[in-house]
Amino acid sequence: ATEQLSKSETIKLRNKHIGQACQLFYRTDPLKIVRGQGQYMFDEEGTRYLDCINNVAHVGHCHPEVVMAGAMQMATISTNCRFLHDELVQCAKTLTGKMPPSLSVCFFVNSGSEANDLALRLARNFTKRQDVITLDHAYHGHLQSVMEVSPYKFNMPGGEKKMDYVHVAPCPDIYNGQITDKMHPDADLAKLYAQPVEDICTNQLAKGQGVAAFIAESLQSCGGQILPPPGYFKAVYEAVRSNGGVCIADEVQVGFGRVGSHYWAFETQDVVPDIVTVAKPMGNGHPVGAVVTTPEIAQALQATGVPYFNTYGGNPVSCAIANAVMRVIDQEGLQQNAKKLGDYLLDECQQLKKEFECIGDVRGVGFFVGIELVQDRDARIPDTKSARWVVNRMKQVHKVLVSSDGPNDNVIKLKPPMCFNRENADEFLMTFRECLTTLMQDKLVAAVDAAKAKANDRISSAAADTLANKTKLLERHDRLIKSV
Ligand code: PMP
Repeated sequence: ATEQLSKSETIKLRNKHIGQACQLFYRTDPLKIVRGQGQYMFDEEGTRYLDCINNVAHVGHCHPEVVMAGAMQMATISTNCRFLHDELVQCAKTLTGKMPPSLSVCFFVNSGSEANDLALRLARNFTKRQDVITLDHAYHGHLQSVMEVSPYKFNMPGGEKKMDYVHVAPCPDIYNGQITDKMHPDADLAKLYAQPVEDICTNQLAKGQGVAAFIAESLQSCGGQILPPPGYFKAVYEAVRSNGGVCIADEVQVGFGRVGSHYWAFETQDVVPDIVTVAKPMGNGHPVGAVVTTPEIAQALQATGVPYFNTYGGNPVSCAIANAVMRVIDQEGLQQNAKKLGDYLLDECQQLKKEFECIGDVRGVGFFVGIELVQDRDARIPDTKSARWVVNRMKQVHKVLVSSDGPNDNVIKLKPPMCFNRENADEFLMTFRECLTTLMQDKLVAAVDAAKAKANDRISSAAADTLANKTKLLERHDRLIKSV
């Protein structure tokens, strides 16, 4: 086994040998996680953390059936998919069995980024076009090709510029986006948000270029846990397809039953994409992903005569693990659990919203929840500072891991492992309530201090005025006496 290092030694080595651009949670006091089980993670001292953010450990950290499936296959054979293997075809059968019938062909990859890269390639090859529409604040991966369709990254101050063939449509965030339910209480927001997508399609077509693909997460996670208005994807898909493009649904974060009501998040909008990308939860921590598409789109790639080969994509170990994950989701009723407890969590968070002014919005579906913190509820002014404070306090004081996200980093994000239970939900709710109470008390104390300071200023300025008046009177008196 690897030698156990002290935490400070681990930090020192990481600082020296790992690129400092690599993201690290809680950078000023990072966590050293040495073990995981179910919905819990343990640090080097054995402290237990409740994991409310790990959508990768989908069926629970180190689920024994998944671990065993991987270990057994590792001990049997792991090779590439140019050889026949039952785990590969069974994985493809199960995965496509969970999809609408038109999505019947798989390509296996190793990550979400690879899946989206291949999805773009398939779309561009099928349509013989290059342009892609993406949503504002979207993130689709770290490869060059997918960074180009990730405004979340390229719009950062030091980010690379937007490419001409990339078109950014507004994120359908009806709470804090370009078009809100407050601005247009009676409007069809789905239609209003779909219009810019249609405009891009028709404009590009008029230029003789056309759009190859529209890519979007079925529920935008990086945008701040966004639920598009009902009918949005129907309208967008219709616009894209009628203009000759294809529709890619990125289910990398939100797939595999997380939304509770359905296995895939795109089903909540009653649409059928042309290409679906999956990864993260599929391997429960092991790198595996896939692109699922129609026979026509897959056939168009074959027609190029350039074979697709990926050394690790679809290897028997990855497929055995993915098969075990999908089995466990069904065996343990985890989708149903996400529905039942997700509803409970959302209801309770709505209750918290009634009590705490600092909560501007609570939204979600299943185990995909966002709680938006605001400085002013009416004006919907984001409260980034408080969100960060809550994330840190939850970890430091309560040993509960949550994260914040969104364009203003003010949305508390929950996407726990699917085995999250009622006790876990209550632990989150109780500790989150404590944080909000403390936050409100601190804000109140600060407000009282500010009011006192203002009052003191007023008192002292009144006193100064009186003094000045008295001085003036004395001077006048002096002058009078001298003149007598
Ligand atoms: N798409 C989405 C929606 C993601 O959240 C991520 C990862 N955060 C990716 C794609 C990229 O996946 P990976 O990190 O596995 O390459």
